[in-house]
Amino acid sequence: MTEQDKIKYETAFTMATSSIKYGPGVTREVGYDMKKLGSSRVMVVTDPNLSDSEPVTVSLQALREVNIETVLFDRARVEPTDTSFKEVIKFASSGNFDGFIGIGGGSSMDTAKIANLFSTYPAELLTYVNAPIGKGQPVPGPLKPMIAIPTTAGTGSETTGVAIFDLEAMHAKTGIAHRTLRPIMGIIDPNNTRTVPKIISASCGFDVLCHALESVTALPYHKRPAPESLDMRPAYQGANPISHLWASKAIEMTSENIVKVVQDPSDEKARAEMILAATFAGIGFGNAGVHLVHGMSYPVSGMVREYMPEGVKSEHPIIPHGMCVVLVSPAVFRFTAQTNPELHLYAAKLMGVDVSSADKKDAGEILATEIIKLMRATGMPNGISAVGYGSNDIEELVQGTLPQHRVTKLSPRPANAEDLRKLFAESMTLW
Ligand SMILES: [Zn+2]
Repeated sequence: MTEQDKIKYETAFTMATSSIKYGPGVTREVGYDMKKLGSSRVMVVTDPNLSDSEPVTVSLQALREVNIETVLFDRARVEPTDTSFKEVIKFASSGNFDGFIGIGGGSSMDTAKIANLFSTYPAELLTYVNAPIGKGQPVPGPLKPMIAIPTTAGTGSETTGVAIFDLEAMHAKTGIAHRTLRPIMGIIDPNNTRTVPKIISASCGFDVLCHALESVTALPYHKRPAPESLDMRPAYQGANPISHLWASKAIEMTSENIVKVVQDPSDEKARAEMILAATFAGIGFGNAGVHLVHGMSYPVSGMVREYMPEGVKSEHPIIPHGMCVVLVSPAVFRFTAQTNPELHLYAAKLMGVDVSSADKKDAGEILATEIIKLMRATGMPNGISAVGYGSNDIEELVQGTLPQHRVTKLSPRPANAEDLRKLFAESMTLW
């Protein structure tokens, strides 16, 4: 018997998601929904750019109309850090809240999840953080009701049990992933994405695309080692037939609409499709997981020096998450294609490429080329060199990727340090 034969593989997968309410103007129903969940004192989490925005104003009014006591916390940091999480935990822990609402991009929704988790089960921040960076302990039990209201068509955080942050000491993103963190409901209102700057709208769209492409191409769940106990079965389980459906549809919808929403933000139909695609992709990757693209994106984001995208208000340099992700994606899909060329061609086909006469050995290149085509049409930077990185940074980028086990373990093709060096080098300039 070889070592390989002794591994026990996973034999099951689960499908979990938040309940979803979709429709233009549906934000005003949040009071009704929160009341039904039994909450009477609610903490509303958003970021400083959104504190006076329509989605926040409408939500606060809706909550007050049904006599829910409401406290606004508008200091969620865009791209949260351990420091910003500690601040919200302190606020939430002294507030005696029995319900939480996150309004904004992934950052605000993730911050609300953290407020809920640590005010319900107080612990050191690293207790529930993914191993090996944190202790990876499972959340002890159910949390208080939470509703998420996305204002960008991107993260899909309204459907997932994941909260991501920068661990400042390591200059890398990590996170907490557990089913109980998942909001009970996501309120998807296309009216809420009207005022997003173009570059953010494009970045968010590429985040959606990569969530979907990664869940389709991730290591299949039955090729993952079985969990030590049922408690330890990860939220990110690997590719599975149900995630595949949601992610496939999201690839189609995003590829069809990403250029439209960036070129014409008043295109209501395209915006509605994009926010729905973000949710579809969230349902896919919330169960299947993402892999190398996201794993490599975390140090790209965490090590930012001076980059600031055009039209974005931020007190600190920032490379938007979706931008970090898409910048490394062409190299990754060229690398993973050999594990399952048909699947990579299938993904390219969903993006609109005619693959009828394509050669299997070109699968990675075909998919990468199509992604780059959309990047160029939406004004994305030309590779990680355009956001401030050079060949001297490659080693640190590699070292920042290696501990991202939660996601890199799901790569269909394992990547060692040498592979990662090549992938980052290839991502410096894309065209
Ligand atoms: Zn993402």
